[in-house]
Amino acid sequence: LRMVSTAPMDNEPVSDEELRPHILDGFIGQPRLKAQLQLFLDAAKKREVPPDHILLAGPPGLGKTTLAMIVANELEVPIRVTSGPAIQHAGDLASILSSLDAGEVLFIDEIHRLPRAAEELLYIAMEDFRVDVMVGKGPGASSIPLTLPRFTVIGATTREGMLPSPLRARFGFTAHLDFYPIEELEKLITRSARVLGLELAQGSAIQMASRSRGTPRIANRLLRRVRDWALVHDLEIVEPQDVQDALALYQIDTEGLDRLDIAVLNAIVNNFQGGPVGLNNLAAMVGEEQETIETVCEPYLVREGFLMRTPRGRMATRKAWEHLGMQPPEDASN
Ligand code: ADP
Repeated sequence: LRMVSTAPMDNEPVSDEELRPHILDGFIGQPRLKAQLQLFLDAAKKREVPPDHILLAGPPGLGKTTLAMIVANELEVPIRVTSGPAIQHAGDLASILSSLDAGEVLFIDEIHRLPRAAEELLYIAMEDFRVDVMVGKGPGASSIPLTLPRFTVIGATTREGMLPSPLRARFGFTAHLDFYPIEELEKLITRSARVLGLELAQGSAIQMASRSRGTPRIANRLLRRVRDWALVHDLEIVEPQDVQDALALYQIDTEGLDRLDIAVLNAIVNNFQGGPVGLNNLAAMVGEEQETIETVCEPYLVREGFLMRTPRGRMATRKAWEHLGMQPPEDASN
């Protein structure tokens, strides 16, 4: 999946690591999910067996990888990380599976992108802790069943609906991550600022939180840009006005919308008179994959009241017209 973000930050090296919490307590927000997961882990520890497989579903940047690492850390087991697109053949997966230690966590990001044959191999392994290893080629080939120690798969997906049901059924616990409310992002930014050694004045964190598109990854990114600003301007403490100045320089949208969000709204409003427009036409107009628009862009736009999904297609709301600085038509929806 292509990561879509606000323009000046697209090329930032992956630096999620330093800001990742390592224990469940340090994970901000999502209280229900945390309570469920805590119980699930405590039970596994008491039973002294690896917990059931876990599926984490939700848009990018909301903490799926972080949660997977926390789970492994809380269970005090190693974690192996791979992803759907990284596994090209079933054999790639077979060799990972056959090298897992007892209790190990196998994290599979973008699990909905596994090739079909690998999917089948995976759900057998998840259910029966067995993998058939192919030996030889052609008519002489044979498969040798190999028993695996118990392990835990943590799958992450931005498209739960694309997982075939036999695979989905192998997960004992599914967690849905949703966009974070501003107060939670404010806490997250405050925590990250402490980790980065940046002092924020009262009211500064919320300036970043409200522009973070409900997404921790974006919140941390904005914070880093503000940190750069503070460094260059020799600020000991960052005031709300500094945050505004810094983020204005980067042309961060006041509602946190990113380039793709704006492109989508622009297309609906300017090319399709506000809609309704079908997803395929919309995708063609903004030059982006349908999947990206559907999973990355739309959930947030719908939630924030910029976009409506109707049986006839996507429509821009009054709020969208106004955000683009345009006069909504008389009959625009709210
Ligand atoms: P995903 O795997 O869903 O794309 P990540 O787990 O990589 O997202 O999270 C992106 C960044 O946001 C990481 O730096 C992570 O530490 C941070 N983050 C995400 N969720 C939280 C949270 N609930 N509390 C604290 N930090 C978080």
